[in-house]
Amino acid sequence: MFSKFVLTRVSKRICHTFSRYASRQSGKKGKKAAADNESGDRLKEMMPPPEFLAERQLLWDQLKKEADEQLAAMPSEPIKITLPDGKVVEGQSWRTTPYEVAKGISQGLADNCVVAKVNDVTWDLDRPFESDATLQLLKFDDKEGEYVFWHSSAHILGEAMERLYGGHLCYGPPIEGGFYYDMWSERRYVTTYNTLIQSPKDKTHQPHLNSSTYWEGKADAENLQRIYGISFPDTKQLKEWKHFQEEAAKRDHRKLGRVGCGNVYLIQGNDTDTKRRGFWDSWYPPTVYYLLDLGDWSVSWLNSTMDNMFQFEVDKEKFALKPMNCPGHCLMFDVRPRSWKELPVRMADFGVLHRNELKGALSGLTRVRRFQQDDAHIFCRPDQIKEEISGCLDFLKHVYGVFGFTFKLNLSTRPEKYMGEIAVWDEAEKHLAECLDEFGQGWELNPQDGAFYGPKIDITIMDALKRSHQCATIQLDFQLPLRFNLSYVTGEDASDKKRPVIIHRAVLGSVERMIAILCESYSGKWPFWLSPRQAVVIPVAPLYNDYANQVKQQIQCAGFMCDTDVDEGTTLNKKVRNCQLSQYNFILVVGEKEVTNKTANVRTRDNKVHGEHTIDDIVTRFQALKTSQCIDAEEKF
Ligand code: ZN
Repeated sequence: MFSKFVLTRVSKRICHTFSRYASRQSGKKGKKAAADNESGDRLKEMMPPPEFLAERQLLWDQLKKEADEQLAAMPSEPIKITLPDGKVVEGQSWRTTPYEVAKGISQGLADNCVVAKVNDVTWDLDRPFESDATLQLLKFDDKEGEYVFWHSSAHILGEAMERLYGGHLCYGPPIEGGFYYDMWSERRYVTTYNTLIQSPKDKTHQPHLNSSTYWEGKADAENLQRIYGISFPDTKQLKEWKHFQEEAAKRDHRKLGRVGCGNVYLIQGNDTDTKRRGFWDSWYPPTVYYLLDLGDWSVSWLNSTMDNMFQFEVDKEKFALKPMNCPGHCLMFDVRPRSWKELPVRMADFGVLHRNELKGALSGLTRVRRFQQDDAHIFCRPDQIKEEISGCLDFLKHVYGVFGFTFKLNLSTRPEKYMGEIAVWDEAEKHLAECLDEFGQGWELNPQDGAFYGPKIDITIMDALKRSHQCATIQLDFQLPLRFNLSYVTGEDASDKKRPVIIHRAVLGSVERMIAILCESYSGKWPFWLSPRQAVVIPVAPLYNDYANQVKQQIQCAGFMCDTDVDEGTTLNKKVRNCQLSQYNFILVVGEKEVTNKTANVRTRDNKVHGEHTIDDIVTRFQALKTSQCIDAEEKF
């Protein structure tokens, strides 16, 4: 009955809370706020304000009036409010608020409360009690209080952004230690984070926003350059992704020993029609759309789970662009009888996947319709689960270590509705927990949060803005082997068959999405081995342009990204500065001395000066830095 009232009042209360907190913060951080104020471009509120604000104000006034009337009409009776220490405070139903109770205890307490809990339900401080109740007052240092606070802050920030940009709010959750908001605004995508500071100078409540502005649209190189202020790694650089493939294959081979399994690629067009015909007979012919016929399962299972598949018809037969690799890999496993000695069989696939996501769900590089995953499936015996999972965790640690990501691990266990035998689940969960313990990094249990077909390890990475992303998956699957009737022979007797377990493993997840996260995480400062701007050569005068180009060629021939800056209209200092701002990892300055000595003078984007080095020496060092994939190549040079 009072939901409307609560809603509107909550946001109003939050405003009070926020401005109180903001003014405390501005007192503490007065200097910093002032500095920001002077250096940054001041954002101004839109004049006239966006139209929807007036509309919203009208709605608020109307709802508020209704709510106030409703409240006034409620009968007020004496009630008892019990505090956590057992103390009882007298109050009036539909009149007394948690804020008043807090104030009755002390003004300090009232000022520091963020939210209340009434009968264990989160309750706005200004919302009156309805009857006898228990009351808890939560402050910022309480985890729940902090969450509410950041959540509310995000809303305030959101409104400020509406007033500044006039766009539409999209997504703005509280995150660990802060909040942010994403906004859509006439082909622009704006995000702000954690930077709401009340100006101590003008005493207005206008926030100072540090915001990055992103252009929505085609995620091509030109757009990305505008988006991130850096150029997108070109095909040459994307080659580095291949190293992951190689690394994955290397690891799989190393541990494999027995069976030569590695990278596999599935055909894009999958027959979604019924009857399985000659799948393996026709693997090689050039008529690709006829190559892969996935049979009945594709209709019953794939269609039902992936109704966003791209579908098309060829000669009255229905096909779909492959939306996932798992089914294809199962068919490959099932190409011939497998012995227990062959297991584990590992298949890694960087193939392209297509999913016909809703248009509105598409977002930059993070949600696209055509993407690649570092997707692997491990077919193993139940007794091999532990070793395989340990291998996956190891691999994960290696890859994320290279990127400098930290990550959290969770074990999600059997849900209420599950498939398979309890004993198998219990055993598998035990193995997973042991693996996590041995891995040596803390982990948390998510009871009953596993998929119905198997327990899983959830891996969450944190980007530079402390936003968490789920990229990697290590998922056990008892269901798919059953669905595809997969088996292996356990001994001499060919009729003695057992079901393998499948482990789905992805470390990067969607490569496109990972690139987006890396763009954000590095804020354009790509580590040397991934950088699209590894080096630039600057001649001190036009006289040395030829030599600069020669140096560039030598470095390019060694396989590195190198440019020259031979613009004659700019001073040397300005060129160096510009190249540093463009995030070239290394800046090589050449003049008379360098030409004579066949050298270059090396400095970094952070202006660390490494001095004169021969070009051969520079190339050798670059190679070592690239191989090591370190994140601080500029220091280590
Ligand atoms: Zn899979």
